Amino acid sequence: MGRVYNFSAGPAVLPEEVLKEAAEEMLDYKGTGMSVMEMSHRSKAYDNIIKEAEQDLRDLMNIPDNYKVLFLQGGASQQFAMIPMNLMKNGVADYIVTGQWAKKAYQEAQKYGKANKIATSEDKTFSYIPDCSDLPISEDADYVYICENNTIYGTKFRTLPNTKGKTLVADVSSCFLSEPVDVTKYGVIYGGVQKNIGPAGVVIVIIREDLIPEKPPVENTPTMLTYKIHADANSLYNTPPAYGIYICGKVFKWIKKMGGLEAMKAHNEKKAKILYDFLDQSKLFKGTVNPADRSLMNVPFVTGNADLDAKFVKEAKEAGFENLKGHRTVGGMRASIYNAMPIEGVEKLVEFMKKFEEENS
Ligand SMILES: *Cc1c(COP(=O)(O)O)cnc(C)c1O
Repeated sequence: MGRVYNFSAGPAVLPEEVLKEAAEEMLDYKGTGMSVMEMSHRSKAYDNIIKEAEQDLRDLMNIPDNYKVLFLQGGASQQFAMIPMNLMKNGVADYIVTGQWAKKAYQEAQKYGKANKIATSEDKTFSYIPDCSDLPISEDADYVYICENNTIYGTKFRTLPNTKGKTLVADVSSCFLSEPVDVTKYGVIYGGVQKNIGPAGVVIVIIREDLIPEKPPVENTPTMLTYKIHADANSLYNTPPAYGIYICGKVFKWIKKMGGLEAMKAHNEKKAKILYDFLDQSKLFKGTVNPADRSLMNVPFVTGNADLDAKFVKEAKEAGFENLKGHRTVGGMRASIYNAMPIEGVEKLVEFMKKFEEENS
C-alpha cells in the first residue's frame, strides 16, 4: 500500500523527504557506522545534531539571544505543571480557557497556586475566541496563559490577548512553525512537537531568560521539572529524546528550504482556504466555529447527522483519506492540515467531499 493522506491531529503527517532521509541514515549516520538511536548523547556527532537543530529553530523563528530553547520530555501536558511550578512567584496566574488543553493547564495550575479563569468560551462548546482586549487581569498575576491554537475545536487566537503588561505564556503545540511569530511578545512559547514538527516524545520550550528562577518558587519541585537545570545544561542534563530531536532538526531544515515561516503561512492559508471555501458553500457539510477565529491547522466540520458523519469517515478512509473522525468529545469530522500536508491532499479531499455530497443529498 502506498502512503495515504493523513489528516491526523497528532501524531501527524511529516514531510516525506524527511522520512526518506532518516531512512537512508538509519543504519549509518554520516559515516559513524551507527544509527542516531544508538549514539551517545555526549558524542561529537550528537552534539552537532542538537546544536544545529537549535540554531535552525532560532533562525526560523528569529528567537532573540535572551531566550533559551529547551528540548524536553513529558509532552505538552508536563508543561501544564512545569509552568506554574517555575513561574508562580506570587502564586497567582490568569488563564484564558478556550478548549480542553487550556482547561487541563488551568486545572493543573490550581495545584500550585491561585489560578484564575479570566475568560472562557465553554458556553458555546469552545467554538470561538473570547474578546481579550480588556480582561480583568490580576494585579499580581505572574503570567497570563493561553492555548493559541485549539487543536480539538479548530479555533486560533488571531490577535494575542492584551495582558496589560503581564508575561504571556502560550501553548502552540498545534500551530508551531505554521506562520511567523514575534517571540518578543511572549515570555514562554512551548509545544509538543508531534502535531507539526516531529515524532512524539519531544516538547520545545522557548523561554525568556529572566523568567527562569534560580530555584523554583514551588517547594520541592523535582529536579527534572526545573527549567534552570535544563537551561544550564543546554537540554543535556540527562539523556534527551535524542532521536526525536534529530528528526525535528530535519524538519527545521525542510521548512528553511521551503522558504521559512512566511512561505509556510502562504502554503497553509492556501490549503485552509480551499477547505473553508468549500464548507461555506456546501449544502451538506458545515464548519463548526466562528469564521473569524478559524484555525489554519485544524478544520472541524459536520453534516448535522451522526450516521452520515460516520458513513463519510468510513468511505473517506476507503478512499485513502485517514483520520478524519472528529475528537471524541465533539463528534463529526476534523481535518488537520499541518505544514507537511500537501495542497493536493486538501484538493483531493474536497473533490471527495463534493462527490459524497452529490451521492447523499
Ligand atoms: C496535543 C496537545 C497537547 C497535549 O500534548 P501531549 O504531548 O500529548 O501532552 C497539549 N496542548 C495542545 C494544544 C495539543 O494540541
